[in-house]
Amino acid sequence: MKEIVSEEHTECCLECGEPLFGRKGKRFCNKYCRCHWHNRNKERVRLTRIHTIDCLSRNYEILDKMLRLGKTGCDLKTLTEMGFCQEFVTHKGEKIGAHIEYRCFDAAFSLSSVKLFNLHRV
Ligand SMILES: [Zn+2]
Repeated sequence: MKEIVSEEHTECCLECGEPLFGRKGKRFCNKYCRCHWHNRNKERVRLTRIHTIDCLSRNYEILDKMLRLGKTGCDLKTLTEMGFCQEFVTHKGEKIGAHIEYRCFDAAFSLSSVKLFNLHRV
């Protein structure tokens, strides 16, 4: 039995934006739009993963160098100029006292609004 198809416009194709007709829940107007949308989405996810790994690697290189030089802190302005991105960490701990301990792999540290401090290895 053939599905009853409505001619009423309900949604738009996620890829090209053309109005969709037919069964409810339809997301694409044809298989080309469906494939193109999924391929683009996969590429976006791949690029986001690469960007995240790059940021974590750069952060770790900076923290590791500080630790090897015996430094336990630095102002955020200097760190940012060096390429440190404070939103990329591998662990966010509980708040102990006034500050949260963050980790970038085996480098642990705390942050205030202006500096990174208490840098140590775990
Ligand atoms: Zn389409």
